[in-house]
Amino acid sequence: MRFRATEPYNPARIHAAAIYCSDGRVGEHFDDFLHNGLNLPRYDRVALPGGAACLAGHQQAHLEEQGVIDELKFLVEVHSLSRVVLIAHEGCAFYTTRLGLTPPRLELMQRADLVRAAAFVHRVTGIDHIEAYFARLKDARIEFEAVEA
Ligand SMILES: [Zn+2]
Repeated sequence: MRFRATEPYNPARIHAAAIYCSDGRVGEHFDDFLHNGLNLPRYDRVALPGGAACLAGHQQAHLEEQGVIDELKFLVEVHSLSRVVLIAHEGCAFYTTRLGLTPPRLELMQRADLVRAAAFVHRVTGIDHIEAYFARLKDARIEFEAVEA
């Protein structure tokens, strides 16, 4: 089997990465937001269950924390990363299952985690340009709202 992608290859890097949940139900929406909402084509992806939750100091995500920090440092060095976008999403199973949270505490924790994770990423990478967003399900669509640090 052979498949030829329709998308032409562009080797230019844009020096931006996004850290978000790997939940496949919102993957296309995250791409849409980053490509068209933030105008970040070809951004580097760091996707794992819960996204930046692992950078917020939860003991349950200690192993992931080290892995993601290593990846970020690699991207800063090799891809000259200068901008990082963090996205959390409504009803994330990492929070409901691994951390056992339920609404309304669930979203409050996710928002607080985005702020904590942004500070942590800044501390370990030195990157100043870090943004955070919360993805909400509304009328069968996904809407993105900025979360202020
Ligand atoms: Zn999730």
